[in-house]
Amino acid sequence: MKVLKFGGTSVGSAERMRSVASIIAQEQKPLMIVLSAMSGVTNRLVDLSNALKAGHLGLARQAVADIEQKHRQAAESLLAESPALLQEALTYIADTIQLLTSSFAMPWSIELEKILLAQGELLSTHLFYFYTRTLNWDSRLLSALSFMRTDEHNEPDINYIRRELLGQLEAHPAEVYITQGYICRNAKDQIDNLRRGGSDYTASLVGAAIGAEEVQIWTDIDGMHNNDPRIVPDTFPLRKLSFDEAAELAYFGAKILHPASILPAQKYKIPVRLLNTMEPQAPGTLITDESVERDIKAIAAKDGITAIKIKSSRMLLAYGFLRRVFEVFERYRTPIDMITTSEVAVSLTIDDDTHLDEIVKELQAFGHVEVDKEQTIVCIVGNFVADKPGVGVGIFEALRNIPLRMISYGGSPHNISLLLDTRYKKEALLALNEHLFKAEPARS
Ligand code: ADP
Ligand code: ASP
Ligand code: MG
Repeated sequence: MKVLKFGGTSVGSAERMRSVASIIAQEQKPLMIVLSAMSGVTNRLVDLSNALKAGHLGLARQAVADIEQKHRQAAESLLAESPALLQEALTYIADTIQLLTSSFAMPWSIELEKILLAQGELLSTHLFYFYTRTLNWDSRLLSALSFMRTDEHNEPDINYIRRELLGQLEAHPAEVYITQGYICRNAKDQIDNLRRGGSDYTASLVGAAIGAEEVQIWTDIDGMHNNDPRIVPDTFPLRKLSFDEAAELAYFGAKILHPASILPAQKYKIPVRLLNTMEPQAPGTLITDESVERDIKAIAAKDGITAIKIKSSRMLLAYGFLRRVFEVFERYRTPIDMITTSEVAVSLTIDDDTHLDEIVKELQAFGHVEVDKEQTIVCIVGNFVADKPGVGVGIFEALRNIPLRMISYGGSPHNISLLLDTRYKKEALLALNEHLFKAEPARS
């Protein structure tokens, strides 16, 4: 079975949903379909939650009205030929709007926010499911809340997901299963989510759980590009990537994939294909465990990074120092992305600064601590074999006028990472593109 995930733009209107149905119609069955919320809906739900938190009822009402209008309009267009199904869909929408409106009278809490954020995917999948019934498909709507679960560390519980999902597939044979991306239940059985962009992660987890033949991520661009197309003009799609390369790009900011979404597919060796709903015939990007020989493949950038420098003469000729530093981050369950050391100082970066104050306080016991916020990691992905000379030349030549805060090379043969102030990000991406891809526009 294949898993096909369609993102927000791909299900963003009645017309887009019809295109999705025609893509699905051409695939061999059975299939598992994972859908995002209609484009813009999760953002409006975030607006709603923020408005409630701040006590701005006017803004909250506006967000709910927008969500209602968008779904009613799509339902009326998609289900015009089937009054009974249209009625069912309008009732489902009205019930959801009632739930959103009832939150106005509740005290804001993170648990309430998660219930609100879950409604986007619940609405889009219901709508699409009703539409498939008008097409007389043998389809079935599976609630992700019944099988998608995270454990007490907020990590997906793959054994639970596999057991529940396989049980449901066996109990309810169908040709097309439809389920929600992004949403799940946590270890306390509360409604939760896999963080923004999490529908990709759902697709990969579902693929891993059922041992899928392939996971397809259908979006609004023809695959993984060599640089961020929102910033750099003239980017081009990469036809093939290895799991390691794709995982690095996703983790370091390539928005086309959720940061963790490659890991389950890689673990269970399930090919991932990135495809374009607007251009279904385009080949897209195939991600497998094979790598294509090419020195530099792609560049991504991750914002919102905090750099922490600890300077201590106690580090000089000492052992065990780094362990004690790392233990502080471990205690606060805060992952470190980059690290560079000198004999008397260590610099490292984090993107989750929830516990920054506590971490800094504990680190101050070791020496002088400096914190720089609003930093960006620029990650260059390719084949950087250690015995090959000259790989850094083009990179540093490109960045000759940009102050670099940290440089990390040699940790993996696929990645060179640089830390710079976010205000230099655009200039850095453009300069790297010019130097690394314009001179030799070979595509792989
Ligand atoms: P979806 O809603 O389908 O999940 P996303 O907006 O999350 O879509 O991801 C697709 C977008 O990712 C593209 O429209 C593009 O602007 C952005 N993007 C950022 N970096 C890259 C990249 N390296 N390659 C392709 N797309 C990228
Ligand atoms: N709807 C969610 C979001 O916008 C999840 C997703 O689209 O992947 O973040
Ligand atoms: Mg996305």
